[in-house]
Amino acid sequence: MTVASLAAVAYLAAAILFILSLAGLSKQATARRGNLMGMAGMGIAIAATVALALDTSERPWGVTLGLIVAVLAIGATIGTWRARTVEMTQMPELIALLHSFVGAAAVLIGFNSYLTEGHDAMHLIEVFLGVFIGAVTFTGSIVAFLKLSARISGSPLTLPGRHALNLGALVACGALMAWFLVAPSVWPLALMTVIALAVGWHMVAAIGGGDMPVVVSMLNSYSGWAAAAAGFMLGNDLLIVTGALVGASGAILSYLMCKAMNRKFLAVILGGFGGESSPSSTTADAVGEHRSTSASGVAQKLATARSVVIAPGYGMAVAKAQYPVAQLVSRLRERGVEVRFAVHPVAGRLPGHMNVLLAEARVPYDIVLELDEINDDFSSTDVVLVIGANDTVNPAALDDPGSPIAGMPVLHVWEAESVVVFKRSMATGYAGVQNPLFFKDNTEMLFGDAKDQVEAILAAVGAADAVVA
Ligand code: NDP
Repeated sequence: MTVASLAAVAYLAAAILFILSLAGLSKQATARRGNLMGMAGMGIAIAATVALALDTSERPWGVTLGLIVAVLAIGATIGTWRARTVEMTQMPELIALLHSFVGAAAVLIGFNSYLTEGHDAMHLIEVFLGVFIGAVTFTGSIVAFLKLSARISGSPLTLPGRHALNLGALVACGALMAWFLVAPSVWPLALMTVIALAVGWHMVAAIGGGDMPVVVSMLNSYSGWAAAAAGFMLGNDLLIVTGALVGASGAILSYLMCKAMNRKFLAVILGGFGGESSPSSTTADAVGEHRSTSASGVAQKLATARSVVIAPGYGMAVAKAQYPVAQLVSRLRERGVEVRFAVHPVAGRLPGHMNVLLAEARVPYDIVLELDEINDDFSSTDVVLVIGANDTVNPAALDDPGSPIAGMPVLHVWEAESVVVFKRSMATGYAGVQNPLFFKDNTEMLFGDAKDQVEAILAAVGAADAVVA
């Protein structure tokens, strides 16, 4: 048996583990197993790739191994440090930054492949497409990172004639591809790279903050296709399979998210959302009087409630309130109150954000429901606690066709008998639109840090229980 044939078997095993990993990640209960399978698959893939590189190396194998170990050590050190220090709320920006590395790698592999290998038509097409996708992914991901980390403004850049600019750039790249195929040289490749870098930058700069979740998952898809293209150029089957898995799953996730936000995928990609403030009533101006309450007032309300729904959002993540929230939930359940969570598909700052936080705090999976599963139940709910959510519970999405978030499915929390909104001020949420929920007759605001307030409620509930006992 040769090293090459062993590596082929290892690649097949890794590919199967990656597919099983994706299947495991689709449900919370099996997500941990899915992660372990992914890690095992990646371990096997790296070992096989290193073995192959040593086997085919033209340099002394010690030098090749030294170089590989050096880059692995640098990458692993930076990766471990970032992964350990990143806050859950910063996860999307980290993911966006990691996508940019995949894009940059595809560009570098493309140029290297062109300069060091033969120039048959198929190979030239692989190189051209790989570099194009890689360059778009690279700059697009950097802009997404800068926007998500608030290093640049989240509002969309709407250049005059921006669609014509994008179209012109694509036509120019098509012409450069023809030149590249007819008379191969580094010039058309380099010119296309510059244009593709500009297209990636412009495409994401034109997309508003409210659509960033879709952009991150779209870039995830692009990074997968960039990796698959790199796999073709390097003749590495596993990279092709893995890239296709990432590319396809990212595309499916983008589609599902667009459906959840009632947005057309093309409209998201073409950008402009969230920038044009409408003359409607849901701009950042107040739309009436609000009432505020206290932690003990909420504890009293909960004392008589039979059914409670908690709608968590980004603020719960920032405050790290999931732990006292989980304690409050188990206290209420001990008393026989029906408590459930209503999780909006884009609550927080990344898909599944709330599910991860709640799982971290050991909230049972079966009481964590999705928007479709719970939206009809609000009218029969006594109390809804909106903990750090804002855009995802905004009735303007349904009532105001002029609102920037019009048409986005939202949690119908206002249909409950009583609603308590936990936040620190009357500030708007991520999309920058005012929320008429705060001014409804059955809504009370509980101002302050969500964690502090939930802890205060917990203390008040405990004190009341002690009196009863
Ligand atoms: P929002 O971002 O709309 O609102 C969060 C609210 O939390 C704010 O109103 C803020 O009010 C409050 N808050 C912040 N810190 C605290 C704190 N320490 N204690 C209490 N409250 C706090 O949240 P949603 O989850 O409802 O909506 C998510 C938004 O993010 C959507 O617009 C979505 O499109 C977007 N998005 C989603 C992504 C995803 O994949 N899930 C990715 C990127 C964006 P105040 O400042 O007054 O406290």
